Amino acid sequence: IIENLSDLSKLAVLGHGNGGTVYKVHHQRSSSIYALKVLRFNNQNNNAAAPMMREAEILKRVDSQFIVKCHAVFHTISGGGELCFVMEHMEGGSLYEALRAHERLSEDVISRVAQCVLKGLQYLHGTKIVHGDIKPSNLLINAKGEIKIADFGVSWIVGSGNVECCMGTCAYMSPERVDPERWDGDDNADGFAGDVWSVGVVVLECLVGHYPLIRMGEKPDWAALIWGICFGERLEIPESASPEFRSFVRRCLEKDWRKRGSVEELLQHPFVNNRSFTTSFASATSNNHGLLDFAFHA
Ligand code: ADP
Ligand code: MG
Repeated sequence: IIENLSDLSKLAVLGHGNGGTVYKVHHQRSSSIYALKVLRFNNQNNNAAAPMMREAEILKRVDSQFIVKCHAVFHTISGGGELCFVMEHMEGGSLYEALRAHERLSEDVISRVAQCVLKGLQYLHGTKIVHGDIKPSNLLINAKGEIKIADFGVSWIVGSGNVECCMGTCAYMSPERVDPERWDGDDNADGFAGDVWSVGVVVLECLVGHYPLIRMGEKPDWAALIWGICFGERLEIPESASPEFRSFVRRCLEKDWRKRGSVEELLQHPFVNNRSFTTSFASATSNNHGLLDFAFHA
């Protein structure tokens, strides 16, 4: 439907990231709103092109209601070369912003977030794609309150032989990714378990309202962070958390990736499956005014 990049006019900046900017854009002919992610080739790093092309390849491949849809990809020569992704606009912004606005979410809402992310991962893993960077700023919310996975900037296709396994955000990385010796040499390691670990960190963060693997007030020093991920004690889960929540987080944050729960197992877990939603999203958040009221009205 979108034939020309010039048919899109920029309205606002939605976000910044590694080497790219995401704009809210208006498409004149259809008078619709989209998100446009623009990646520039001429960054300091000349190896930057390969991951960008991979992001484009993966985005063109995926098609799921749990993944942010990409409608078109354009390659332009302006400014030394740009890759532009025309994506569905997620009006509610990211889970990162939602957490900043609300500090913490109810278990009912977190359960639904976990279910959507796991279904997205079920699709991706079934397509042999490891996302590699599951974290709040890459989980987007639309006006219907749906949560979808975005940002394939560090994703890889299993078996394609081009894994740069130290990319992504360390804070949400599994022990076997921050310490690849745990992973190397094992033929069964495909990287899917790393995405499950990240889900566990995100879910716990939603409940406690801050990044959970560093104690409040502690300096986020990289060495301490990585040590905590690889060797730290079992996590501190708030007393108030339900038994289902505890068990779910423990299955995700199992340090040995061979013993960690799989996406299929966790989709059957009582925290996300058969959970009786006592409150709708609307009533669960009705006392808060902000993003989630808007995002979770469905
Ligand atoms: P990066 O690779 O730079 O992290 P992302 O694809 O994660 O890029 O986008 C950066 C930010 O832009 C996101 O965290 C989000 O806030 C915003 N954003 C990205 N895509 C969309 C979209 N489709 N709709 C709304 N906001 C978006
Ligand atoms: Mg991102």
